[in-house]
Amino acid sequence: MNKETLSKLVMMLLFSYIGLALFDINEYLIIFVLICYFGYDFLHGKEEIERRNRIENKELLNEIKSSTSDAYLKHKQLLTMISNMPFPLLLLDMNGKVVLYNTSFNRFRDSHDERELDYINNDCKYEIAEFLKDAYIFEKQIDKTITVDDKTYQAISVPVTTKGKFSGCVVLFQDITIAKERESMQKQFIADASHELKTPISVIKGMVEILNRDDFDDEKTEIEFLHQIEKETNRLEVIVRDLLQLSRLSKDNLILKRESLDFTQIIDYSLNSFTRLAKKKGLSFNVDYQTHESVFVDKELSITLMNNLISNAIKYSDSGTIHITTKEIHDEYVVTIKDEGVGLSQEDCDKIFERFYRVDKARSRESGGSGLGLPIVKSIIEAHGGNIHVESTLGEGTTFIIHFKY
Ligand code: ADP
Repeated sequence: MNKETLSKLVMMLLFSYIGLALFDINEYLIIFVLICYFGYDFLHGKEEIERRNRIENKELLNEIKSSTSDAYLKHKQLLTMISNMPFPLLLLDMNGKVVLYNTSFNRFRDSHDERELDYINNDCKYEIAEFLKDAYIFEKQIDKTITVDDKTYQAISVPVTTKGKFSGCVVLFQDITIAKERESMQKQFIADASHELKTPISVIKGMVEILNRDDFDDEKTEIEFLHQIEKETNRLEVIVRDLLQLSRLSKDNLILKRESLDFTQIIDYSLNSFTRLAKKKGLSFNVDYQTHESVFVDKELSITLMNNLISNAIKYSDSGTIHITTKEIHDEYVVTIKDEGVGLSQEDCDKIFERFYRVDKARSRESGGSGLGLPIVKSIIEAHGGNIHVESTLGEGTTFIIHFKY
């Protein structure tokens, strides 16, 4: 009995007492009135409760409906997010059943039938299947590098726990092929650079040791050695200068000091610095500037680029003319440097832009080359958004063609 009914009962008893005591009303009449009143109140109260319950139920239903649709939306969003993740991902439950995997994971599967998958039967490539097995059996975080179809992946398994108990694991794979390639290229570069630096240092060290001997007394050899030491020191300087230049160009945040320039002025500037050397070798220059349009380039780097190409044309030619042209082709500014020198085989044409690659090591060394001239050229052009390629015939000559975008 609630408070409201109790207070009504007390009030009715009070009125009945007053009716009986003061007005001498028939007790049967009072009982009859009381029964009618409480009967009506009971029925009416029941209806009211039912009405309230109906409202409450409706509100509850609406709340359930809205939280169900909310949960459904969240579930869909989560699935969309997982399936669009750019790396393969899979979820195993506490029984080792595959409960979820995304589209990227399909690349690891041999077949795509719809049967239930688990940590043993999953139709995956061998390395992946083995990793899934370990991930489920060991119930601990595993981080491993694996190779699948010539690609390297960082495989990571993270156990999922509910109330401290293992309830499955999330397994994901990150493609680290490019990073690995970069790492091995860097290692190779360090090994090559060390080797390049070691050679002149060993020569200098050996000669200094001989010159320092107490019994050494040969003036002719001494002059020869000092000349050789000077040459090797210059070589070291060139290698270190080019290494620094290349490392600056390889930075992701390289900032070019671009300005609008008539590129023919850069070519002329570079040709001027090589006129004496070319003459000494009996070579001549021929320029054909079909355009004097301005290009938006870094002046200092453009001079380095032209210096490297012109000095190579001189280094690898014993006779003939070096032709330089500028022209406009399909909205591009094109520069060609053509020599009539030793030329290159097709195989070498594909490799000469690699660091420290030299066709004729002795000739490169003799002319003070670092083996980094063309990689520097390529980096400078690519930093400007342009490209370079080479055409050559062995014994006839080589042409380097540069394309700059306006
Ligand atoms: P290097 O310091 O040896 O000249 P580069 O990177 O400038 O290094 O050039 C790499 C190699 O490409 C050279 O060693 C040479 O064999 C070849 N090469 C470059 N330019 C020419 C050219 N104009 N003609 C023939 N071979 C060339």
